Amino acid sequence: HSKESGRNTCCFFSTEQHAATLSRYHIAGLLQQALERNEFSMVYQPQLCVKSGQLVGVEALIRWHNPELGAVSPELFIPVAEDAGMIEAIGNWVLERSVSEAVQWARHDLHMKLSVNFSVRQFQRGEVADRIMTVLQQHAFPADQFVVELTETCFMHSAEATERALIKLREQGVRIAIDDFGTGYSSLSYIRNMSLDVIKIDRSFVSQICASDTGGRLVQAMIDMGHAMDLEVVAEGVESVSDFEVLKQLGCDQAQGYYIARPMSSAALIQWATELSQRL
Ligand code: C2E
Ligand code: MG
Ligand code: MG
Ligand code: MG
Repeated sequence: HSKESGRNTCCFFSTEQHAATLSRYHIAGLLQQALERNEFSMVYQPQLCVKSGQLVGVEALIRWHNPELGAVSPELFIPVAEDAGMIEAIGNWVLERSVSEAVQWARHDLHMKLSVNFSVRQFQRGEVADRIMTVLQQHAFPADQFVVELTETCFMHSAEATERALIKLREQGVRIAIDDFGTGYSSLSYIRNMSLDVIKIDRSFVSQICASDTGGRLVQAMIDMGHAMDLEVVAEGVESVSDFEVLKQLGCDQAQGYYIARPMSSAALIQWATELSQRL
C-alpha cells in the first residue's frame, strides 16, 4: 500500500490474505452500481515543461467515492474492474468525462494536452481506437492534444490488436505514452519497435535522483535513452524542488508530481492554471 492510499482508504482494506480476497469480491459488487450512482469523478494533475515552467498538460485520474467504503484508490479497484469485465464501461466513462471537461478549459483560454490512462484490456477488443476518435470529434478536441497512457506491461502483452489500434491512433495525431517506465521487463528492442511518443519515468526512480549518485545517473540514462529514440520524457512523482532542479539539469522535458501540484478537480485546475499563467 502506498502512503497515499493508506490515508485515503478506510481500514476495510487489510493486507491480510483473507480480507484482501473478501474485499475484492465486495468491491466488485459495489463497482457494479458505481457508474449509475454517479460515484466516480475525475481529477487532473498538472504537467510542467521543466525548462519554462509552463503548464503543458494534465493527466486525468479517476476517483471513486463509495458511501460504504469511502474513497477507494484506483490502484485497488482498477484491477478488480479489469477482472470483473467492467473496465470497458468505466474506461468509456473516463474518456467521455475527461474530454468534455478538457473542452471547458479552452473557454478559459487554457490549452494543454490531456493524458488519459487506459487498461490493456480496453485495447484487446479492437474498437478502442474508433471510440477515442469518435469522442474527440464529438467534442471537437484536437487529436494531437490527446495522449493515451499505457503501462509498460501492456506493451509486453500487446497483441497485434493493440499494436494496430496504436498505429491507427497515431495516424490521426494521437500520442502514445508508456507509463511507469522502468518497472516492467520490456526490452529495448521492444520499445524501439513500438508506436510510441512519450516515456513516463516511474516515480520509484524519480524519488531516488537526489538520494544517491547512482539514482541520479540511472534517471540520466533513462532520459538520454528516451531522447535517443526521439521520445519525449516525463518524470513522475516529482516531490521536491531539488528533484525538479536535478531534472532540469538532466534535460528532462516535463515533470509531474506533488511538488508541482496534487491532482485536482476541473474547477480547481482552471483556477490553478490561471494563477500560474499570471505568475509567469
Ligand atoms: P499512474 O497512471 O502512474 O498515475 C500516477 C499516480 O501517482 C497517481 O495515483 C497520482 O496521484 C500519483 N502521484 C502523482 N504525483 C505524485 C507524487 O509526487 N508522489 C506520489 N507518491 N504519488 C504521486 P492515483 O491517482 O492513485 O492512480 C494510481 C494508478 O491507477 C495510476 O497510476 C493508473 O495506473 C491507475 N489509474 C488512475 N486513473 C485511471 C483511469 O482513469 N483508468 C485506468 N485504466 N487506470 C487509472
Ligand atoms: Mg498514468
Ligand atoms: Mg505512472
Ligand atoms: Mg502507476
